[in-house]
Amino acid sequence: MTSVKGSCLCGAIAFEMTGTPRGVTRCHCTRCRKVRGTGHAVNLFLPLDGCRYLRGQEQITQYRLPEVKYFGHWFCRVCGSSVPRLDEQRGIAIIPMGAFDDDPGVRPDRHIHVGSKADWETILDDLPQFEAGPPTL
Ligand SMILES: [Zn+2]
Ligand SMILES: [Zn+2]
Repeated sequence: MTSVKGSCLCGAIAFEMTGTPRGVTRCHCTRCRKVRGTGHAVNLFLPLDGCRYLRGQEQITQYRLPEVKYFGHWFCRVCGSSVPRLDEQRGIAIIPMGAFDDDPGVRPDRHIHVGSKADWETILDDLPQFEAGPPTL
């Protein structure tokens, strides 16, 4: 089983991915833009048991947007880095691609929530674009 490692900027939190990714999205929704402070978030999705924390889980702050079904943001309370979110409700792990230290071996395969894209953001690749959420992940 291959292990792809990742960590937060300060190093307090570390994780590994051992499962097979289902896909990698470039999400342009306003929530992702806010919490990541960037034009879009790049998230890897995989089954929940394919990602686990190696250290620092007690340093994670879990923010859940009130009255929204799925959106949440997990980050290191020391350095603010986004870290994997383990969504037990949906049985998936969502890993922010920037948190990887190793190359996870997969590449973004789609743009989602393009209908909410920032005016200043330009999509420069030929990946499929979806106006709203991911069709099947
Ligand atoms: Zn940190
Ligand atoms: Zn998003």
